[in-house]
Amino acid sequence: MTKRKDRSTAIRKVKRRVPSGESREYFIRRKKKPSASCALCGSALRGIGTGAKSSRTPNRRYGGNLCHSCGAKVLVEAQRVREKGKSIDDVEIVLRKYVQGMLG
Ligand SMILES: [Zn+2]
Repeated sequence: MTKRKDRSTAIRKVKRRVPSGESREYFIRRKKKPSASCALCGSALRGIGTGAKSSRTPNRRYGGNLCHSCGAKVLVEAQRVREKGKSIDDVEIVLRKYVQGMLG
């Protein structure tokens, strides 16, 4: 009988050929699906769920791509450019793509 620890649905049985030529069976834990992460800082995005599109992701600009703090940073930079206080070339290069997207 398979050991209790190997009877979970998170475990699967795989056959691997070893260098001696025989094949052996192993129990391998399935990999977890990677969670969505921020495109700028890499932190895990919160508020990602299931169901309708509006409930699957935060309903704001770059909701499923940027975390709240990076989104705020981009918003501030976009406003500074819009108010002509700052040139788009002075915006940090990693933020530039998103700032341009916000400007339209
Ligand atoms: Zn971020």
